[in-house]
Amino acid sequence: MFDDAELTPAGASGAIAARISQALDLENNSAGPKPTTSLLRRRSPLANPQQQLQTLESVPLEGDSRRDRFANRADFAARLQQHGWPSLRPATLEIFQINVGKLCNMTCRHCHVDAGPDRHEVMSRDTIEVCLRALDQTTAHTVDITGGAPELNPHFRYLVEECVQRGKHVIDRCNLTVLLIPSLQDLPEWLAERGVEVVCSLPHYRQFNTDSQRGDGTFEKSIEALRRLNAAGYGQGDAKRRLTLMSNPVGAFLAGSQVKMEQEWKAGLLKNHGVTFDRLIALNNMPISRYLEWLEQSGNLKRYLEVLVNAFNPATISGLMCRNTLSISWDGRLFDCDFNQMLELPVQLAGDRPATVHDFHPDLLAQREIVTARHCFGCTAGAGSSCGGAIE
Ligand code: SF4
Repeated sequence: MFDDAELTPAGASGAIAARISQALDLENNSAGPKPTTSLLRRRSPLANPQQQLQTLESVPLEGDSRRDRFANRADFAARLQQHGWPSLRPATLEIFQINVGKLCNMTCRHCHVDAGPDRHEVMSRDTIEVCLRALDQTTAHTVDITGGAPELNPHFRYLVEECVQRGKHVIDRCNLTVLLIPSLQDLPEWLAERGVEVVCSLPHYRQFNTDSQRGDGTFEKSIEALRRLNAAGYGQGDAKRRLTLMSNPVGAFLAGSQVKMEQEWKAGLLKNHGVTFDRLIALNNMPISRYLEWLEQSGNLKRYLEVLVNAFNPATISGLMCRNTLSISWDGRLFDCDFNQMLELPVQLAGDRPATVHDFHPDLLAQREIVTARHCFGCTAGAGSSCGGAIE
């Protein structure tokens, strides 16, 4: 089903990413543990977003309107409607989230991006310039830079500088281990000098749980990276050097209480490793991409989807991140959120206009209807889940 053109993104961006991957020896485990390989590299049917959507839709769930008496229980749009939301519309745009590419030094089991050293999609300097021009047309106060490992994009520092100069709050979504790559070792101080918030993914504060999801050796490297961030002033209550940890469950269950987890993690990491951080955000795993593959292979898919549907919490709807965030892909396409981006569900503009940052119309975007499907139950389950953590 794949041809060579699909496996190797055409153009300069792909060639640049391939050179970075080779130059930094990202395929090697010393650059970051790799418990698996990307769906794309394995030519898995789930590398195709359409296949992911069909897989989710085809799971027979209690409450599926086509199958039983609990009308529309497993239909996300119908659930919104039942709670007074006939359509999901954006609120004020606050967060401009730029995904600068799928290249990563790691290949974690639960990655919703299907990122890895073999993913050669990276945002070009030209597209970054267009993003900055679009940013200037918005009310967004925050620029959330994500990937892959965003720090591996050769224009990452330029993008950060430009956003800081514009007075934006900048977030770097960091996998921690990337900070140990020799050419990036100055990054903690560099980011600290610019007041960038570092949001670091770490599945658990215990070694076993983290390594089982991200690969042997991840935890040790993550702790070393946290020490370097602490040494640069991060994680000690300074609002200009905020260190946030981001946790997601290691199995097929919902994220626990963010407040309780934060207390437990702070105590555990300080006592056992002498590292500190400012806050913890807890996310539900989104049933897409490599986590969807894991759910299928482990026999947990139906059960996990039922957990999400049964835990639907209408109080989370108004705070869904798709309402205050715009997500931009490495090639400049626009999406309601990073999850829709990975599922190739672009924003729907009136008149079927192309939704790209090259043709940016904030007024049209403000009028759009947000695209939803079954995966959205991952955001409304329990206390809710977003890139900022629990919603409620
Ligand atoms: S996945 Fe979540 S954030 Fe994205 S459109 Fe669905 S509800 Fe909104």
